[in-house]
Amino acid sequence: MPQATPNPAHLTQVLVNSPAYSPMAGVLTYLSPTKLVPGSLVRVPLGQRELLGVVWHDTHTTDPLKPELEPSRLRPISATLETLPPLNAHWRALIQFAASYYQRSAGEVALAALPPQLREFSPIQLSRKLKKLAKTSAKPANSAPGTSASSLQNTTNSVVLSAEQTRAIAQFNQNSGPFLLFGATGSGKTEVFMRCSAELLDRKPEAQVLVMVPEINLTPQLEERFRARFGQLFGLDAVVSMHSGMTPAQRLNSWLAAHSGAARIVLGTRMAVFASMPQLQLIIVDEEHDPSYKSHEGARYSARDLAVYRGHQEGIKVLLGSATPSLESWYHSRPATDGGRYQRLEMPSRVGSGQLPLVRRVDMNHQPKSCIIAPPLLSAIALRVARGEQSMLFLNRRGYAPVLECTDCGWKSNCANCSAFRVFHKIDRTLRCHHCGFTERVPRACPACGNPDIAPVGRGTERLEEHLAELLVDIRRPDGQAVRIVRIDADTTKLKGALESQLAQVHAGDVDVLVGTQMIAKGHDFRRITLVAAVNPDNALFSSDFRAPERLFSLLMQAAGRAGRDASVAGQSEMWLQTFHPTHPLYEALKMHDYPAFAQSQLKERQQAAMPPMSFQALVRAEGRTQEVAQGFLNAASLAAAEQSDTAALLAHLTIYPAVPMSMARIANVERAQMLIESPSRTALQRFLTAWQSVLHSTRQQPEYKSLIRWAVDVDPLLI
Ligand code: ADP
Ligand code: ZN
Ligand code: ZN
Repeated sequence: MPQATPNPAHLTQVLVNSPAYSPMAGVLTYLSPTKLVPGSLVRVPLGQRELLGVVWHDTHTTDPLKPELEPSRLRPISATLETLPPLNAHWRALIQFAASYYQRSAGEVALAALPPQLREFSPIQLSRKLKKLAKTSAKPANSAPGTSASSLQNTTNSVVLSAEQTRAIAQFNQNSGPFLLFGATGSGKTEVFMRCSAELLDRKPEAQVLVMVPEINLTPQLEERFRARFGQLFGLDAVVSMHSGMTPAQRLNSWLAAHSGAARIVLGTRMAVFASMPQLQLIIVDEEHDPSYKSHEGARYSARDLAVYRGHQEGIKVLLGSATPSLESWYHSRPATDGGRYQRLEMPSRVGSGQLPLVRRVDMNHQPKSCIIAPPLLSAIALRVARGEQSMLFLNRRGYAPVLECTDCGWKSNCANCSAFRVFHKIDRTLRCHHCGFTERVPRACPACGNPDIAPVGRGTERLEEHLAELLVDIRRPDGQAVRIVRIDADTTKLKGALESQLAQVHAGDVDVLVGTQMIAKGHDFRRITLVAAVNPDNALFSSDFRAPERLFSLLMQAAGRAGRDASVAGQSEMWLQTFHPTHPLYEALKMHDYPAFAQSQLKERQQAAMPPMSFQALVRAEGRTQEVAQGFLNAASLAAAEQSDTAALLAHLTIYPAVPMSMARIANVERAQMLIESPSRTALQRFLTAWQSVLHSTRQQPEYKSLIRWAVDVDPLLI
């Protein structure tokens, strides 16, 4: 027993934000005048700064790797945010797991999971804030009639459930999950989400539900519907949002409401998976296949996967939903007798008499050369306009043309900083790089040979919109007016509120033809669209990324799901595909709206090639001034793994591929390389990555790699 040290109860271990590879990563020891329970929030000095920290352990544990700190050199905690209840053990376990699984420090993950404004607040500011919040929520809204169980019954029963919905809900109630709700677009998944939530909230007056959505502005209707139903029942304050589009003050309010239990429903994007919700009873992940659940900075976590972990850890239900599940979730929901771990709930039909659209493939090999919109598609659109119906065309490229080219010498509008072309934007006559932002006026003549004849090659949404307006110039709406075309993409929605107002125009029927990027193909409940067209979907068929077909199929299914949602306007709605490969199996499956057939063929290919979900992957990415340094660092760390016993012992269970340039090899003059590691065993891969961290650190210290800018590990990467 150390006699001379202060009372061990007063040695407090605090987690602060430090990146994984800093020498101070992990837990720091401070002195506290009182014993603080784990999960308490504190402010601590670090160097010249004062930081927010989380008390992590309640006993003083010693790290065998670190020399015991001289107690006289320990610094005291600056302040305790004691008005806040401590973060509970479940939350701390989630952070610890996420940090270790995604190979980052717990401090980084924990502090990133707290609202930014909390990092700045003193105890006094926080107390003031809490008092203010208590005052507003004490207003009548909460105690309004409508919170009683009987009114809950009344409101939720206003919709008569379909047989499929009833069965899915019964299965949800009888089992423990995790569940995959596989429901066609328009099958009424949202209604199922709301019923399952209502049941739990009703049963326990303090229960909380977390509802996750991919991108909040792409699914405003889900939020509206949850607000409309549950706001009425529990008061508007009981439903809060959490996403990066909110101001720091709003985010703090939501977080505090969730943490205190005042919020019964939290609706949020991927970051919400870390929300502190002491009475959490259910996690719903809508559109679970959406790639935006995977973070692409800091700890590259998958919020969907963490939701499943969190549910398991807290012993609560998790409900994933999609019309086109990720192949991972689909595979996990195979029959339990084959090793499946999720329970699949199926809703194959649309609610009411809404039918899935007829899929029509236009064979572009038999259309006029270099036509953009095939004549039959054009006639179909013109017909809809004349009937007062809406059409939607999407093309996965914004701008006017992806590249400008000199017809004489072959000069192309390359970006000087990136391995990419600059895109021609006609509206302001600029060449813009979509990767680094480098923008210039379009030159009057070819910079290489002086030829004034430089021409746009290929098309983006801006050019499609222009072209369409020319083609439809003589077509009239039923009211005799000219066609109204609106374009929605990242360029037209830069200003705050622009997307909302453009969508409102579409919903109000002020638009006949909607042109856009894939941004318009997802989630929106457009009532009057009866024709959807993919202008040029072929690219993804032959991509080197093994997930490209999965993403394309899901995008096209989602897009098709935008058509014919309102049975009263839909005679027969249509989904058009312009393709040079009309008999491709992906399009065949799409024509039949047959996700299971598509998934089965993809999984078979993945099985044969030992790809995820049958195997597990991690990528290490490195950035440097040259490819030589970036790739050299990765290859050296790979070689060194064989020389260190704990990593060497695992090499038999995995494959480390040589470093290669990333498909976008250079962005903003930074060269990027990556190295793939694959294993049939998730455990072996995890053990290897953990042990390999120290090898990566020491490799970085070698003189050849001093100029390396950064490196990072991406576990279960989505883009390879
Ligand atoms: P999904 O999320 O599966 O695409 P939604 O939940 O958006 O489908 O439902 C599609 C439409 O059907 C919505 O307008 C919704 O209000 C409506 N709806 C859902 N369930 C029912 C039902 N049982 N009876 C009538 N309409 C329903
Ligand atoms: Zn030229
Ligand atoms: Zn660039």
